[in-house]
Amino acid sequence: MLYRNIYVDGVLSDITVDSGKIARIKPIGPDYEAQRREKGDEFFFALPSLVNMHTHSAMTLLRSAGSGLPLFRWLNEAIFPREAQLTSDDIYRGALDACEEMRQTGTTAFNDMYFSIESTLRAAKETNLQANIALSVTDRDCEDKQLFAKFLDSIHHRFEESGCTFSIAPHSIYTVSAHNLQMLADFAKEHQTLFHIHLSETQKEREDCLHENGVPPVVYLDRLGIFDKVGFKFIGAHSLWLDPTEIEILGSHHVTVVHCPNSNLKLGSGYRFLYTELRDAGVNVTLGTDGCASSDNLDMVEAMKVMSLLQKGVRNDPSVLPAEEVLKVASNNGRKALGLPDNSIVEGNVADFFLISTNNRVFKNIEYINSTPTQIHQEFLNRLIYAADGNAVSQVIKQ
Ligand SMILES: [Zn+2]
Repeated sequence: MLYRNIYVDGVLSDITVDSGKIARIKPIGPDYEAQRREKGDEFFFALPSLVNMHTHSAMTLLRSAGSGLPLFRWLNEAIFPREAQLTSDDIYRGALDACEEMRQTGTTAFNDMYFSIESTLRAAKETNLQANIALSVTDRDCEDKQLFAKFLDSIHHRFEESGCTFSIAPHSIYTVSAHNLQMLADFAKEHQTLFHIHLSETQKEREDCLHENGVPPVVYLDRLGIFDKVGFKFIGAHSLWLDPTEIEILGSHHVTVVHCPNSNLKLGSGYRFLYTELRDAGVNVTLGTDGCASSDNLDMVEAMKVMSLLQKGVRNDPSVLPAEEVLKVASNNGRKALGLPDNSIVEGNVADFFLISTNNRVFKNIEYINSTPTQIHQEFLNRLIYAADGNAVSQVIKQ
């Protein structure tokens, strides 16, 4: 397949894709460019596709449910009772809507946490998205230990042939006992899967943990031996309420955390995500939307904007988290966590990128008012993150 008239890092090029790889990127030169402009060709900007590192995709069914409630009331009054009614067919339908929304807004890989995970797997395969799908587990699911272990083993094997990956997701430290957390970490270690958990999402979670265990959530998990067992395969969604000791523990194990700014803001969970400190400690910081019940959409471009603006705002510093860096958080860092190959747009890499038309209102005239490739690319990135949203994406290329 040949994709014509595409700015790659500000250089106008034609891209040849063969067997799912970028076979060739050929700059087109000023003469051809002039000819094609005269002919009225359409031109595009290209960027590597994004990774939504924490979501519950089937929650498109519960989009915007319980607006105005804080986390614990939101879960118990608006979410859990409705989830109890969902069939596996409902979950397939909800996940399919989610996958289409993600694909249309430039996201081609996601890290899911829910139940009835085979329904989500089916939706991901039908829309050709890359997914790591984690089974969300609470103490209730662990009651019959033998049955549970058997179920997990059988699921793990079914995923092996699918191209997607399976992992385990203890819901949180307040819904899964110490014993079961250790059992699930053993499972993750044995099967080499990721260990995905909601971590320090609210101040209440932190205070309850201090009250019950005498230490904050990360120290509690460390004492249970969770990090020694799963190491860098640990993924802490939210990780908002952390102290310096906890950040040091997370950094020393090179774990991944997922920032979900829209969800934290909507649920009023407070805002104290310590991006710079986490990054500098060696934590792999990634970005997610969370499910549609708390983030309302799955738009990773919008999430990049919110994250970047919040970090500038709370630190009184406009230089914090510039466009290139928040893009890396939303793309490469996520791919690294999921074990996916680099999708930077260079020859030989996997072809997994999206296009935005230069005719789009927000992106008009960038190439006329900037002269060097670096300036063109820089302005494109800044407009994408601060002026546009995922609806600007015109095409996604992924085989
Ligand atoms: Zn979540």
